[in-house]
Formats: sequence, C-alpha cells, structure tokens
Amino acid sequence: MTRRNLYFYHKKDSEMMEKAGHLYELAEKYGFTIVNDFKQANIIVSIGGDGTFLQAVRKTGFREDCLYAGISTTGTLSMYCDFHIDDTSKMVEAMANEQIEVRRYPTMEIKVDDESSFYCLNEFSIRSAIIKTFVMDVFIDNLHFETFRGDGMIVATPTGSTAYNKSVNGAIVDPMLPCLQVSELASLNNNRYRTLGSSFILSSGRSLTLRVIQDGNDHPTMGMDNEALSIQHVEKIEAKLSGKQIKTVKLKDNSFWEKVKRSFL
Ligand code: NAP
Ligand code: MN
Repeated sequence: MTRRNLYFYHKKDSEMMEKAGHLYELAEKYGFTIVNDFKQANIIVSIGGDGTFLQAVRKTGFREDCLYAGISTTGTLSMYCDFHIDDTSKMVEAMANEQIEVRRYPTMEIKVDDESSFYCLNEFSIRSAIIKTFVMDVFIDNLHFETFRGDGMIVATPTGSTAYNKSVNGAIVDPMLPCLQVSELASLNNNRYRTLGSSFILSSGRSLTLRVIQDGNDHPTMGMDNEALSIQHVEKIEAKLSGKQIKTVKLKDNSFWEKVKRSFL
C-alpha cells in the first residue's frame, strides 16, 4: 500500500507554523503530498504532545483507513509521539521505508442514553460536578455489580492506562490485550455503601453500564480523552471496546514497554 497524502495537525501560532514549515518541506522532498483537508489524507501527523495526538485522532474522526503518527515538540518522546521534531533523520528513515510496520491501538465506544455515541482513545471519565457524592449503579453486561458512591469513575483503554488511570493507581495494560480497565475515583466505603475498591479489567465483548441515580446529582462532568462532553444531564452510559483500532507507525526499539520505561522509570 502506498500512502502519500499527508495531513499535519498542529496549533497555528507563528512559532508552531515555523517549526512545522520545515516538516512540510521535508515531506514534500520525499514525495508526499500535503493535503489541507484531512478527508483526503492517508497519513495524519500530529505535532505537539500526547494531548495533541488525542485531538488529532478525535478531530479527524478516528479513521481506520489512515496511519497516525505523533511528533513531539516537548523535548521528550511520549506515549503517542514516536518522533522528536528535531530528529528528522528518524522521520526520513520511516518515510523512506515502504514496508512500514503498523501498531494497532484499541479504542472504546461510549453510548449516552441510547442516543449519541463517541469514541475514546485514552479514557472516558465521569465525575460529580458538585461537592455532594455521586451515585451510580454499575452493571457488567446484565449483572448488577455494585452501587457506586463517590467522586466518579474512569474507564480506560490499554493506551489510556498510562494516563489518568495511572494517577489513581490503575495497572498499566499492554495494548496487545484488547480490554477496558475500570477505576474508581474516591469511592465511599462503609457499612452502607460497598464497592469493589480495586480496578478491574473487562475483556473485549463485555460491556459496562453506568446508571446515574436521579437524585439531583445527575449532571456529572464527563470527558472523553481531553474533551468534555457537552451533554449535561445523563441517566445511562454504556462503555465497550469498539471495533475500531487506531494505527500508528511501529519503529524498532520502541515497544509499548520501552515507551513505559522511557516515560516513567
Ligand atoms: P493535560 O492535562 O495536559 O495532560 C496531562 C498529562 O497526561 C500530559 O502530560 C499528557 O502528555 C499526558 N498524557 C496524555 N495521554 C497520555 C497517555 N496515554 N499516557 C501517558 N501520558 C499521557 O491534558 P492533555 O495533554 O490534553 O491529555 C489528556 C489526558 O490527560 C486525558 O486523556 C487524561 O488521561 C489525562 N488526565 C489526567 C489527570 C490526572 O492524572 N489526574 C486528570 C485529567 C486528565 P502531553 O504533555 O504530551 O500532552
Ligand atoms: Mn498536554
């Protein structure tokens, strides 16, 4: 397969335009066509950090027929950014390689009140927007698993396991395992309220349903990756792994665990 139409996603301020300009020239020199409409692209390159990569994937609609690549401007490589902006030789090497290896990342599908559905690459998060505790009934498939009372929950993909999920002591999950990890945000546990307390991992094919108890605190803050959901009131959220996978460039000496080591150890 030849992928030659390249779309760059980045901030448009003058500093970034100058940095990106060099990459535009480089790509053209190697025979790529730079397109202004991402729908015409078969390679989408974000320039920034992991947050920019998440936005690039979201704004271009989680395309399965595209290869995504992240170029870091932050001085270090990160989980989604395999190239550093100053390391053009590595980019040239990847561009010149016809048989490029592809890495696939699972994504999650979220359905709110049986209506709107959304994709997430990192996680879906839901939390109380007020000081009062927030209550949800938690179902795994059709099983009523627990009644949660506390601040909220995070449902993370494997690649999202190193982000918000990690900050609440969730496990790091190899993206070769298609699954979802559910983690609590400050659950209340006493003789009246009981939750599992630890994170749990659901295999692909399972679904997690959260039913928000309509007790007045039913306008939680919900987020998909780095974007807030504009839906205000909610009763039911369903989360499952989606059939869609995000493809990125696989480079040598850059396995998921090498990235984890490089980022955290
Ligand atoms: P941000 O608030 O600037 O991001 C927080 C940090 O998370 C940034 O350093 C970001 O990297 C990093 N990050 C993003 N995705 C990651 C991943 N998959 N693995 C490891 N680190 C990751 O917002 P943002 O840059 O737009 O990123 C959005 C993400 O922030 C959300 O999806 C959520 O996971 C995370 N978040 C974390 C907390 C927390 O830990 N308490 C709270 C809210 C949100 P870059 O600097 O390279 O962008
Ligand atoms: Mn960021």
